[in-house]
Amino acid sequence: MGKKVVLSGNESIARGALESGITLATGYPGTPSTEILEYIAAKAGRDVHAEWAVNEKVALETAVGASYSGVRALCCMKHVGVNVAADPLVTLAYTGVRGGLVLVAADDPGMHSSQNEQDSRFYAKFAKIPLLEPSDAGEARDMVRDAFILSEKTGLPVMLRTLTRVSHTSEPVEFSPVKKQKKPKLDVNRREWVMVPAYARVRHKILNQKQGKLIKYSEESGYNNVVKGGGELGVIASGVCFSYAMEFHQGDYSVLKIGSYPLGEKLLKNFLEGKKEILVLEEGEPFVEDQVRCLHPNVKGKRTGDIPLEGELTPEIVSLALGRKQVINQGSGIKLPQRPPVMCPGCPHRGSFYALKQNQPLIVTGDIGCYTLGVQKPLEALDTCLCMGASIGKAAGMSHSGAESVAAVIGESTFLHSGITSLMSAAYNQANILVLILDNSSVAMTGQQPTPATGVNIRGERTKKISIEEVCRSCGVDSVDVINPYRVGEMKELIGKRLGQDGVRVIVARAPCVMLGGVFGGDRYVVGDCNACRKCLELGCPAISFDEKEHRAAISHLCIGCGVCAQICPFDAIKKTK
Ligand code: SF4
Ligand code: SF4
Repeated sequence: MGKKVVLSGNESIARGALESGITLATGYPGTPSTEILEYIAAKAGRDVHAEWAVNEKVALETAVGASYSGVRALCCMKHVGVNVAADPLVTLAYTGVRGGLVLVAADDPGMHSSQNEQDSRFYAKFAKIPLLEPSDAGEARDMVRDAFILSEKTGLPVMLRTLTRVSHTSEPVEFSPVKKQKKPKLDVNRREWVMVPAYARVRHKILNQKQGKLIKYSEESGYNNVVKGGGELGVIASGVCFSYAMEFHQGDYSVLKIGSYPLGEKLLKNFLEGKKEILVLEEGEPFVEDQVRCLHPNVKGKRTGDIPLEGELTPEIVSLALGRKQVINQGSGIKLPQRPPVMCPGCPHRGSFYALKQNQPLIVTGDIGCYTLGVQKPLEALDTCLCMGASIGKAAGMSHSGAESVAAVIGESTFLHSGITSLMSAAYNQANILVLILDNSSVAMTGQQPTPATGVNIRGERTKKISIEEVCRSCGVDSVDVINPYRVGEMKELIGKRLGQDGVRVIVARAPCVMLGGVFGGDRYVVGDCNACRKCLELGCPAISFDEKEHRAAISHLCIGCGVCAQICPFDAIKKTK
């Protein structure tokens, strides 16, 4: 018996990869997947290369390189990251892999921290590769180990789809020994690896020929199994929904647990036989449901409105769909205040947004990161947000459509992820835009992971530091300024000056994320002789409130002493204190 340790789903995935003898682990931070790679970097020895890639496409390509070299590689990303990695992924199914390659796609139904709730199972189907989907943390570890074996057996990358409630819930996991790493061996085969049409046509055929075997694996897989029960209802459940279905199981229905795809008809038909009614429980799209619908006349699920099409499924939703009266979570009855996400007190982005807004650009295209919170009141400083790196392209498109005074706002990590090419394109095509790069020396949204601009790697060691300014100049931008966003007056003046100029102008607003600690040395600010003008409230700092009874502004203990409010108070009423 190995030792048992309580692990989250993400840690369990990481443990499964380590036990499988991986040589390389890569990915890009993104909720709910981030902790997988962090666990590996913290626990693995130096024989495992762990890295944050600049984006998911690079991460997958790096994993492919390791796999072609004959060793095992893990690649982790959130669901929208798979969009970025889709280009290599789809053709990788043609070339195939050598060392096992497992791609973890962490879906975020309910969009706790994402811009959409796309279902990664479609990518596996689209690329014609196997997919495993755990229902809890313990199974996640087992599945990762089997995914590596399956990957090598089929010569295909295997996708592991997790869901927020699997990634972030914990349970005891029994450790198994760590397998020996495979020895690297580069056996070059151009007909397999060079996807020119003549070779790709052959590889496509080979991929199609593998599909029958993939279905057979799923049919025989222990991850698709039946929990027998009486009655005429059959429940088909995948992911965390299987756990919910079992929570209410009183023997009056059978459950087909789905954990391995592609699904074969034989498996489904065997289960459907004799059942009067089928309920399909799955998070994401009606992926399984649509397949079942072709085989049974009475299927309840997302298509019938018995299960919501959007958002996470909860035990309550499942309970009601099963016709149970019992709703397990009645709550405490205490009405809690709403706590929408806000930028932290002292966040350097606040000064940038305030200064930008004072200059009243026609439109501000935004991007993905903490700073997307700048859309909220009272700042309301962003007008668009689409996907990673889109701010610059959109701004350029608006400029070419005749708009003047267009600004794009992008964090430095997002810029390095997928903003560089759009900046180059904007400069090359002579757009008239101001690009504000908010450089807070981290991927702050996902937990302050380092970026190439920090000169620190995933293990906290010094490495090559990438200069944002030099990258911008190399992209053809002649006007590049660097400024401290806490100097609000200077920031406002610079933005005003650059906004009125032609061409692509970049301002790098550089100050570390306050969550990195030690930024302001313990000073705080207090309100003295307040004139009640409410100007300081325009910053939206959570430390500042207005006391209606006293008719004056107040600063709470949340203040971390950034001093921005003191700079904008027209009556000099806010003072520094110890
Ligand atoms: S900006 Fe100054 S004077 Fe106005 S409410 Fe705030 S503290 Fe009072
Ligand atoms: S100094 Fe002002 S703006 Fe900065 S954290 Fe304190 S209250 Fe907020």
